[in-house]
Amino acid sequence: MKNKHLKILLSAPRGFCAGVERAIEIVEKSIKKFGAPVYVRHEIVHNKYVVDDLKNKGAIFVEELEEIEDKTRPVIFSAHGVPKKIPEDAKNYNMTYIDATCPLVSKVHREAENLHKAGYHLILIGHQNHPEVIGTMGQLPKGSIDLVQNEDEAKKYKPQNNKKISYVTQTTLSVDDTKDIIQILKDRFPNIKEPMKEDICYATTNRQMAVKNIAKNCDIFL
Ligand code: SF4
Repeated sequence: MKNKHLKILLSAPRGFCAGVERAIEIVEKSIKKFGAPVYVRHEIVHNKYVVDDLKNKGAIFVEELEEIEDKTRPVIFSAHGVPKKIPEDAKNYNMTYIDATCPLVSKVHREAENLHKAGYHLILIGHQNHPEVIGTMGQLPKGSIDLVQNEDEAKKYKPQNNKKISYVTQTTLSVDDTKDIIQILKDRFPNIKEPMKEDICYATTNRQMAVKNIAKNCDIFL
C-alpha cells in the first residue's frame, strides 16, 4: 500500500535575516523609548504579519517624509537603506531620525562612494524601483551610476563617458543570475573593477544554497 504520510523537510537557514531582525528590534525599541506613534519610512520588512504587528504597537508606515503629519515624532529608515537626501531632508524638517539600514547595505553604499571618489563610473546590478536600489543610487550624484537589471541590459550597456568602470550589486539578488550578468560585463569590459567582497549578502546566499540542497529531495517545494 502506498505510504500516505506527508514528509515535510524544513530548510535551514530560513526566516528573517539578522538585518531584518535588527530593524524590527529598532522599531520596537524606538516605540518603547519615544512612545507611540513612531513613523517608519517604507515597510521595514516585506511581511504583512510583522508590519501589522508593529502597526498595532504604534508604528505608522509612510513612503515619504512629506506624508508625516506630526514632524515632532521620530522617523525610522528601513533596512533597505535610503538615498543621501533623506537624512538631509529629515534634518531640514528638524525631525529625529533613526537609521535602521542593514550594515551590509551600508557597506555597499560606502563601497560605491569610495569607487566614485576614486574616479570610477559605476554600474549597479539590481532591480529598478526596489527600495535598496533607490537608496544605493542615491548615494552618488546623478549620472555617476547606471542600473543594469539583466543579461540583455548587460549586453547592451554603453558607458556614458571615458571613465574606468566598476560594479556593485543589490544585496538580495539571485546568485546564479547575477553571476551570468557579471560574466557578460567582464567579457565586454575586461578591466571592470569588481567589489573587494561579494555584495550579495551571506543571508541571501545561504538561503539560496539551502533551497538548492533541499529542493532536489522534494516533490513540491513551498
Ligand atoms: S543585506 Fe542581507 S542581511 Fe541585510 S537586510 Fe538585506 S537580506 Fe538581510
